[in-house]
Amino acid sequence: MKLSVLYRGALETCNYDCSYCPFAKRTETPEKRLQDTESLQKFLNWVKQETAVQFSIFFTPWGEALPIARYQRAITELSHLPHVEKVAMQTNLSARLDFLQDADRSRVALWCTYHPSQVSRARFVQQCQTLLEQEVRFSVGVVGKPSHFEEIQRLRQDLPEQVYLWVNAYQRGAQIYPYSPEQREFLKALDPFFEHNTVRYASRGKACFAGETVITIDEHGDIRRCHFVDQVLGNIHDPDWKSALQPRLCSRGFCDCHIGYVHLKELELYSVYQDGVLERIPVL
Ligand code: SF4
Ligand code: SF4
Repeated sequence: MKLSVLYRGALETCNYDCSYCPFAKRTETPEKRLQDTESLQKFLNWVKQETAVQFSIFFTPWGEALPIARYQRAITELSHLPHVEKVAMQTNLSARLDFLQDADRSRVALWCTYHPSQVSRARFVQQCQTLLEQEVRFSVGVVGKPSHFEEIQRLRQDLPEQVYLWVNAYQRGAQIYPYSPEQREFLKALDPFFEHNTVRYASRGKACFAGETVITIDEHGDIRRCHFVDQVLGNIHDPDWKSALQPRLCSRGFCDCHIGYVHLKELELYSVYQDGVLERIPVL
């Protein structure tokens, strides 16, 4: 049985301070750190014991986790488990990357977001170069704010051609930024799949792999189909947790985030991303 798991623990801090960030604006208290450490350990124990499941694990923290030693150890440990096919993480790529030397790097993947207001492009590209040297799979992306356009273009020029660059549609409030046709063309020339991210997919009642072959798990071990539907389906510490997995229809009005709509069956995006669904690397 194959299962993709998006894990989001109690972590809610970040070393960056992006203006467009909806979360990660809190300071980590000792209590929160302890809670996150304990819940991460319980999650790891559960993965270790469920040897009949072929896992792909994707850390989608509510903040930045890659510089934190407990998450580096988790990635390293998971990458060596025979029943873990992949361990991926969303990151701003600010962390030292030495720890990857101890991981099975053929099973590690990173979703790396460039935040032009927080780090120089030269430093970010240097980190990407380290990943290339270490043969770690990764995608790179940027929020498509009009003020970022020049930086996005320069980033594309600085990265080797084989590195996929995605651009997320900039959300102004609850609305997607009203790009002009020229702006759309500009971004499509940089990211051939940019248009996928500019749509609020009407998903209610539509079949989705979320809750069937993809789940999210929180710091309590609660299982949900995705990060966007709050209904709890079960808990990983229940002996019959697998009974929570079944074909499901989306109960939300729309889905507009890659980590959600990529699993919407009618979009058939698994054929676009194949082995790179979680870390967002399409087959180009
Ligand atoms: S790096 Fe990510 S989590 Fe951190 S402030 Fe920026 S958008 Fe938020
Ligand atoms: S379509 Fe999006 S919101 Fe609906 S279940 Fe799937 S991932 Fe969740």
